[in-house]
Amino acid sequence: MPAWYDIIRVGKVPYGKGVFAIREIAQGEMIGRVTGKVITDPEYTSSYCIDLGDEVSSLEPRGPFRYLNHCCQPNAKLYLQETVYDDGTPGPTEVSVEALTTIAAGEEVRIDYAWDIAGAIPCLCGAMECRGWIVDPAQLPTLLKKQKKAAAASGASKAGSNRMK
Ligand SMILES: [Zn+2]
Repeated sequence: MPAWYDIIRVGKVPYGKGVFAIREIAQGEMIGRVTGKVITDPEYTSSYCIDLGDEVSSLEPRGPFRYLNHCCQPNAKLYLQETVYDDGTPGPTEVSVEALTTIAAGEEVRIDYAWDIAGAIPCLCGAMECRGWIVDPAQLPTLLKKQKKAAAASGASKAGSNRMK
């Protein structure tokens, strides 16, 4: 597997940093392993944290993948793989980034954060199919219902004005 720095680099985007392809990345290609610190404190929150799927632990990623931005129509995804130690006991979950589509050289690599409704924030990704919120697509209808109720209660529709069309 080639080193990540032969495939991607961290660059500037208007609101911070992002991950960009140095060369064309083929669909299904492994872009790199996400390394970082595994956190098992359920109270811990960070906008970079990756849920490791067992509802207990999450991964606080180190660069470069710390800078992966969200897009509602992503060109990459996180791939979680469970590992086992030689004696058969479960090991840490390994996280890697894989291309969902062919990514052109210079293009920003983005994933769908699909956050839990509790952490949802308005999305400005600009994709044609932008959901308007950084949230798990399955939880979007619930979120919109909640927002509608909140808007009706306050008499203002903030969520609507944040939506990019
Ligand atoms: Zn979006």
